[in-house]
Amino acid sequence: MTPLEALKKYFGYDAFRPQQEAIVRAVLEGKDCLVLMPTGGGKSICYQIPALIREGTAIVVSPLISLMKDQVEALQAAGIAACALNSGQSESENLRIRQECKAGRIRLLYLSPEMLLTELYHLVADLQVSLVAIDEAHCVSQWGHDFRPEYAQLGAARQALPGVPFIALTATADKVTRQDIVRQLRLDGCHTFIASFDRPNLSLDVERGLSGKDKLDALLRFVRRHRDESGIIYCLSRKNTEKLAEELVRKGLDAAPYHAGLTPDERDRVQTEFIRDQLQIVVATVAFGMGIDKSNVRWVVHYQLPKSIESFYQEIGRAGRDGLPADTLLFYNYADIIQLTKFAEESGQREINRERLDRMREYAEADVCRRRILLNYFGETTAHDCGNCDICKNPPQRFDGHILAQKALSAIVRTNGQADFRTVIDILRARFSPAVKEKGYDRLPTFGVGRDVPPREWQDYLLQLLQLGLLEIAYDEDNHLKITTLGADVLYGRRGLQLARTRREEAAPKRAAKAAQAPRQALFAPPAADRERAEALFQELRALRLRLASEQGFPPYIIMSDKVLRLLAAAQPKTVEDFGNISGIGEFKQKKYGRLFVDAILQFLSR
Ligand code: ADP
Ligand code: ZN
Repeated sequence: MTPLEALKKYFGYDAFRPQQEAIVRAVLEGKDCLVLMPTGGGKSICYQIPALIREGTAIVVSPLISLMKDQVEALQAAGIAACALNSGQSESENLRIRQECKAGRIRLLYLSPEMLLTELYHLVADLQVSLVAIDEAHCVSQWGHDFRPEYAQLGAARQALPGVPFIALTATADKVTRQDIVRQLRLDGCHTFIASFDRPNLSLDVERGLSGKDKLDALLRFVRRHRDESGIIYCLSRKNTEKLAEELVRKGLDAAPYHAGLTPDERDRVQTEFIRDQLQIVVATVAFGMGIDKSNVRWVVHYQLPKSIESFYQEIGRAGRDGLPADTLLFYNYADIIQLTKFAEESGQREINRERLDRMREYAEADVCRRRILLNYFGETTAHDCGNCDICKNPPQRFDGHILAQKALSAIVRTNGQADFRTVIDILRARFSPAVKEKGYDRLPTFGVGRDVPPREWQDYLLQLLQLGLLEIAYDEDNHLKITTLGADVLYGRRGLQLARTRREEAAPKRAAKAAQAPRQALFAPPAADRERAEALFQELRALRLRLASEQGFPPYIIMSDKVLRLLAAAQPKTVEDFGNISGIGEFKQKKYGRLFVDAILQFLSR
């Protein structure tokens, strides 16, 4: 079987994505490879196809039981003999799997890194190993964000299995991590493949300078636009996840918190319900997500600024893995900068973490296409704006901001640089806060000069002044604001200033932006006249999928992705053969589900 034939037969896809085929060929030729691909880019196919073509059993190392389980279920659902050995299973189950492996009946065997090391001279020695795939390979590097000591010892496996190709895969592209992977795993004459990090189906949106109730309201509007669609909200602390989840539940939404402080049982429950479409929203710390391969996550929100672009990109990458449009939203305010700077200062890797945070801030502050910033960060350049970020859809309007800036700068100078962000806004807005009263700021001539500008807009303008270098925060002096030489130039009229107009609440324009996205969605949806009917059919097929999933104990997306359901609803195949021609339906699923789905479609059409 050729790689392309295997792709069609087992997975129902007609073509490889860029790089996949070259990687498959290299592994088939027995070469060691390092594969860098974004989350959702299609890494699994790169080792699964060679595993199905080469003689013997492929060993796949994965850091989490939930990841293994998901992959094994997906393969089994496609009729492929795959299984996992791990400490979470009963000894008799593991014994049975060992026997199956020895009998040569298993094509892919998933193992934890520690299991591979203990089995290296036992089970593994008895197998004909076709290849070893190391998933989430950045876990070998202390530099990366998911360091796992067991991973660092995997080089021993490379030495114990001469002649077997090793393929390491990760979505973390940074150069040092990459070199670390090759060195620690002792990959031999390694071929490195770097796929494009672009995920054009993810929309990118930033809400700057919102806090408190305004921020919550903006979140609620966003979530309500995604009714019944699975989504993740990331927060920086455990406490925040609990508070926010509670808030959402109080508003009648279906949400639960997830963080490392919950009991394993509780975490398991939340995760399982989420992947089975029984829980709509997870409010989580970064602890959530690595074990999640769910392909129909339709949106991701960062309720606070993440620590780095790497984590941000990995986290938003969990949306839209099926390739259908998915939305991402990042909230960013002044409190985030203070908190994250504190984390960075205390982290023991001060310089590096400050630098990472600065890159992240540049993204959040951007007034050019956000995707270009991201891609540029990952070393890719593109000549085109994406058309699917807030800047492209709604370019910032500039205005002469020097008078506005002078009001703020003058207020700051008159406090002798002794006031923080909030207090400066209080002075501008003439609010008698405790700090204002205590220091007598209400007697300053600048008290109340900015009354005409709402607090939320002041937050945004002050963030712009920070970003433009007119202001700085004295982190070591209670986060007081100071003006820079550049700020003084503007204050004393030696220099002009352009600012971007703050976006006001815009429920309506957002809808318009959605409409502007229509050509993208047209890729997946039928012509306008039939759209409503296709949507109704999609919902019926979705219900059928949910029923099959609960009968079989699989998550729904493993039976069939949202994308396949959309294609079915649009193409409406009337025979099992036509059903099999839908992209994403392999031979096994055609036989197993064809009749059921075709009958459901025929019944729908007869009504
Ligand atoms: P990653 O591990 O890189 O995050 P996956 O391997 O889970 O990504 O793949 C993401 C999605 O893309 C899956 O739903 C997978 O079936 C799909 N996919 C992968 N390769 C192809 C392809 N050549 N054509 C169509 N879909 C693909
Ligand atoms: Zn853009």
